[in-house]
Parts: sequence; structure tokens; C-alpha cells
Amino acid sequence: MGQIKSLPQKHRMAYANVIGFVFIHLVALTAIFLPQYTFSWSAVGVMVLLVWMTGSLGICLGFHRYLTHRSFDLPKWLANFFVLMGTLTMQASPITWVGQHRMHHANSDTDKDPYNARRGFWWSHLGWSFYKTHDFDDKRKLLEYTKDFSNDKFYQFLSNNMVLVQAMLGVVLYLMGGLPWVVWGIFVRLAVVYQQTMSVNSAAHKWGYKNFETNDLATNCWWVGIIAWGEGWHNNHHAFPKSARHGLRSWEIDTTWMVISGLKALGLATNIQIATMERDGSAKYFTGKVIKEAA
Ligand SMILES: [Zn+2]
Ligand SMILES: [Zn+2]
Repeated sequence: MGQIKSLPQKHRMAYANVIGFVFIHLVALTAIFLPQYTFSWSAVGVMVLLVWMTGSLGICLGFHRYLTHRSFDLPKWLANFFVLMGTLTMQASPITWVGQHRMHHANSDTDKDPYNARRGFWWSHLGWSFYKTHDFDDKRKLLEYTKDFSNDKFYQFLSNNMVLVQAMLGVVLYLMGGLPWVVWGIFVRLAVVYQQTMSVNSAAHKWGYKNFETNDLATNCWWVGIIAWGEGWHNNHHAFPKSARHGLRSWEIDTTWMVISGLKALGLATNIQIATMERDGSAKYFTGKVIKEAA
């Protein structure tokens, strides 16, 4: 397990992030230590449903494959719903999340990558988010990286009101199921989705295999593929960031792609781009390209 090596230039502790992260986990722990107040089976069900809605539909489909990489088109109302789901993970605003993720792809695993895996496992997993770094958090730079949507009024509203939107969900959950629905539907759910997303930046830049030869450390890590809704087939993704489909081989199960396929069948996802793969005889790596899927 690597430790944090030298930190990027011009960094400072992001106290709000650290306090928020600790607070969320302390409340989530009451699900274990105070079950007489916080447990109900319906609350567990709500947590599982919301992990999928905010983790897979929000982060993987909305923030990542749609907004960051534009690997397919959606009607605006549906895109707004997915981006709202992503905002409910409290990872970052749409503008910051997408901007930093585009920096990650532009210079993967170098000093210009916000979650540079060469700084060690814990840095890429969690440590990076506890610091503000001039290069990665500068508002003008983030806007430059997100020019294609940063003047969208709805995304600006979500970016400026992350806590308010979360609190509104909390009120709805409280009215429907009392304290257990709030503890499980907000706090336990946030803790679970954090680990899913963070594993993509750490484990899927460290353990696993490569289908394609790339200059970065990204790997296909089977268990991240499972827990992170298909995002663990990360070598495929780094080789072809534009592909809406990350799992390419028969065993590379990609549950987010299954949802995109369903949206396609309904005529809601269009202009879908996917990677193809082929291999010359016994060559070590596959080759491929991104094509527009036939309608
Ligand atoms: Zn990556
Ligand atoms: Zn990506």
C-alpha cells in the first residue's frame, strides 16, 4: 500500500471536505451502533435503491459517461434528472466533478492529474479530495474545462446548491419513513457511493489486467467492475474514453451500459458511441476504435 508522496504545488487543506466526510460517516455509524432508533428493513431497501439511482444513474451514467465524455445524447429533461442524481452523491458539483475528471484524462497519472495514482493508493482513493490545489480547484480553470455546459442555468443551480438539494431529499425521506430512512437513505448511502467511486480512481489504477496498451496505470479490476456499476473496466475506458460501453469482453459486466441500452431501446439515448475490439492472432493487446452504434 503506497503512502502519499510529495503533494502538488500550492495546496491547502480543504477543511469543509474533511469535516463533511467525517460527519457523514459518524452519522452513518449510528446505523450500526444505535439500531433501536435508526434501523428498519424498508430503510435498507431505500438505501439500496438510492445507491443505484445516485451512484449508477447519477455518477456513472450522468456525470461520467454523459456529461464528461458525451458518449451519447439524451433529451434535456432526462439529462437534468441524471445530473440531479449525481449531485445527490455530494462528491462535487457537476462543474467541478466533470472539470477535474477531464483533467484526469488529459494527463492521467501525472502531476497534472488531480487523482494521480502514482502518488500512492490513498492519495488517489481519498487523500486528493482533502486538499484544495490551485491547479485543480481554480474556478476559471474549471470553467474552461467545462465550457460546453458551464453556462447551463440548471447545472449552475445544482453546482451552487448541493447541500440544499440534499437537505430537500432528507426532508422527503423523513416525511416518508422517519429517522431510519434519513440515516440509511442519506448517510449510509453516501458512504457506500463514496467507496464505489473512489475505488475506480485507486484500485482500478493499480490492480487488474489490460486489454489495451495505454501510457497510464488504469486497469480492468473485476471487483471494481462489479461494485462500481461497470466503471471498473477502466483500462478499456482510458483506451476509449468516448465509448458509452466500458465492459467489452463477455465477463466484463457493465450494469450502467445495460441501462444505456435500455434507454436506447426506448428511443431516449441516441447517437451512442461504443468501442470495438479485435486482436491479431496471439498479440498481447487488443486494438480497437470508437464507432457510432447503428440506430
Ligand atoms: Zn482513471
Ligand atoms: Zn472518464
